[in-house]
Amino acid sequence: MNIKLAVIPGDGIGPEVTEQAQKVLDKIANVYNHKFEYKTLLAGGAAIDAVGACLPDETITVCKASDAVLLGAVGGWKWDTLPGDKRPEMALLGLRKELGLFANIRPALLFDELADACPLKKEIISSGASGKVELDIVVIRELTGGIYFGEKGYKDTPLGKAAYDVEIYAEEEVRRIAVVAFDMAMKRSKKVTSVDKANVLESSRLWRQVVGETAKNYPEVKLENLYIDNAAMQLVRNPRQFDVIVTGNMFGDILSDEASMITGSIGMLPSASLGKSSFGMYEPVHGSAPDIAGQDKANPMATILSVAMMLRYSFALSNEADAIERAVKAVLSKGFRTGDICSDGKNLIGTKEAGDLIASEVR
Ligand code: NAD
Repeated sequence: MNIKLAVIPGDGIGPEVTEQAQKVLDKIANVYNHKFEYKTLLAGGAAIDAVGACLPDETITVCKASDAVLLGAVGGWKWDTLPGDKRPEMALLGLRKELGLFANIRPALLFDELADACPLKKEIISSGASGKVELDIVVIRELTGGIYFGEKGYKDTPLGKAAYDVEIYAEEEVRRIAVVAFDMAMKRSKKVTSVDKANVLESSRLWRQVVGETAKNYPEVKLENLYIDNAAMQLVRNPRQFDVIVTGNMFGDILSDEASMITGSIGMLPSASLGKSSFGMYEPVHGSAPDIAGQDKANPMATILSVAMMLRYSFALSNEADAIERAVKAVLSKGFRTGDICSDGKNLIGTKEAGDLIASEVR
């Protein structure tokens, strides 16, 4: 395959981790006979410094003409005093909106080798018979609707000034995120848990109805509905019951953070933002980590696992995606650790070495 990839290194550790991900992609290109054409673009603080705006038009145009986008991270102390609407982080919202990315996909995958980093008891995260750690959940969060985007404001009431935020979902907004979830489930273990608050919220009743209608097109997938309060509890009580979780913007914001905590380090967590087509933006969950930027200390695995997601979801290259995930696992199994996941200082490696080792394990 010939793949046009827009790369936005961004700020802080962003350039360091995207470089390692490209290194791994180059190895994939070699082994599996693909070609990646990279276009490096400005966004965030780097763009503010270079051209005075966090999201230059050229970045949007080139992203739209590409097959997928790889993003490092944006933001940093240097730009912290800028007003809210001028900050580097605004580039993220702009990109999601301009690229029509309404589905945020965050896997919470706990590697056996990092089981000690999980705050849950071993018996909760491992299968009884083998004792092997088995935690592999994907949270799909609706990203451009719901209460974060509904009408908001203030009004006077007998109890004084009141503030309100309206939770609103249109059928099509629910249907398209449900389709993402069911499609994902078809590539995994064919189970979707839809999370809402349908016992109280009208918007959740519509959500549940539309998800149920969508499920009819996927007879092989088992659909389960849970209330958000129960889902939050079940996620720590018995996380292994979940496979694909789909939910609205605010519930997803909270649940995806809860799910990711289970896996230990933020340096391990990839994410994807998808729209209606196979086009997507892929980025680590972490930020620009200004405290360790430029010191070869960042864990590049979240970004490397993000490009594995890219190969799987945007290009249906699941063998190649598996190869990257296996390579990350192999490096962990051999005991190599970046600082964030190294508890005893043994086999400590830097960003570049981690990238080299993972690339060399790609078969
Ligand atoms: P952060 O994720 O950048 O860092 C939090 C802590 O985790 C830091 O101690 C950092 O050193 C560590 N860390 C993060 N990623 C790591 C990695 N790959 N390897 C090892 N350690 C890692 O969050 P923050 O400090 O709250 O934010 C820093 C800046 O990043 C802010 O400007 C924030 O707005 C921005 N940010 C950007 C994004 C994004 O671009 N998607 C997301 C979150 C935060």
